[in-house]
Formats: sequence, C-alpha cells, structure tokens
Amino acid sequence: MKIILLGPPGAGKGTHAQKLVNDFNVPQISTGDILRKAIREETEVGKQAKTYIDQGQLVPDFVVIEIVRQRLNEGDCQNGYILDGFPRTIVQAEKLKEFAEIDAVINLVLSDEAIINRLSGRRVCSTCGGTYHVSLLNGKEHCEKCGEKLIQREDDKEETIKKRLNVYNVQTAPLIEHYKKINILHDVDCSGTIEQNHKAVLEALKK
Ligand code: AMP
Repeated sequence: MKIILLGPPGAGKGTHAQKLVNDFNVPQISTGDILRKAIREETEVGKQAKTYIDQGQLVPDFVVIEIVRQRLNEGDCQNGYILDGFPRTIVQAEKLKEFAEIDAVINLVLSDEAIINRLSGRRVCSTCGGTYHVSLLNGKEHCEKCGEKLIQREDDKEETIKKRLNVYNVQTAPLIEHYKKINILHDVDCSGTIEQNHKAVLEALKK
C-alpha cells in the first residue's frame, strides 16, 4: 500500500500515518520529521532547512525531493509506505510520479479555526516525537512514553501557524485537484475524535 496523506498542518497527518503504520506494517515517511532530525544533528540539509521551517515556509523542492527519493529506495519501503507531508507542491508531485506509483491519496479535511486551536495547543516530545494537546495534559510537562520534556514547536506559534496555513492554501491545496483528476483522492472529514477519523480513513482506503 503506497499512500499519501494530504491536508493542512494540524489536520492529523502524523497521527493517522502512525495508525496506518500499525495497520499495514509499512513505514511512515514524514519529511517534517526527517528535516527536524537533520536540524538537531546540524547536517548541511538541516542548516538549509531551519530558516524555512522556523518561518513557516516550505523547504525548497529539490531538497525534499532528494530526501524522499533516497528514502523510498531503502529496503523497508519496497512493500509500501505512508507519505506524511510529501508532496506539498505540484513540482514535488510531478517528480514523485517518476519514482513511485501511489495507490491512494487521503485528503484530511479540517476548518481553519480547528487547525489553529489544535496547533497552538500542540506540545511535542523533542526526543521521541510523541504529540499531545495542552487541554489534555492537566499541567503535565513530560512525555508519557519516554519521560522527556515536552516543548512547543517554534512553527506552532500562532503567527507562524497563520503563515503555514497561507502557504498550504497557495502551494499545497492545488494538489487536491491534481489527484482528483487521476481518481485516487479520497476526502476524509477530520473534525471527529482520532478513532472516528481513523475509521473514516480506513473506509476511504477500502474504496
Ligand atoms: P510538518 O511536520 O509536516 O508540518 O513539516 C514541518 C515543516 O517542514 C513545514 O512547515 C516545512 O517547512 C517543512 N516541510 C516538511 N515537508 C515538506 C515538503 N514536502 N516540502 C517542503 N517543505 C516541507
């Protein structure tokens, strides 16, 4: 199963990708996670990516395309994968077509208001990537899974969220039409609970 998870920031791409990893036993390829790791490790790619990410802008196409091309060549991707956060531009989608045959695109749909609420309250573990929402943390400041301190991502601050939404609408949303045209796109309403939304994703994949 080769799946693309499409949707605005905060729609739940990471959460649903992790669930699908368990369902289908294929890896999650998150360009955001790969770039953040590169930043932590202070690699050349990390240095290039940091300014863009902190400002809510997209990292240049050629950088992410090369990352994904190499990653999809690895052994664990041969039976499928969940692409989380890639492609994000038409150029990326066109290039992806040259080295991957996608079975389905799940378009996670959520209102701007809900996105801002989710992202501004999101707290993440800087070590294992665990994700939480302040409204459910009851003041706790450490990751349930590994005990590390939870942080707010620099790009989850309200000003940057608005910029990311704008970037999404201008650069990424055109992918919806792009994939609709070739009949592999499924819209999934993501305003429910994680479990409800996950069920809806699985239903869409059966089609
Ligand atoms: P995410 O964790 O998917 O929200 O990604 C965080 C940030 O990483 C984005 O706001 C972009 O700056 C960068 N990024 C992730 N994936 C891509 C991509 N496919 N193309 C360009 N930039 C990306």
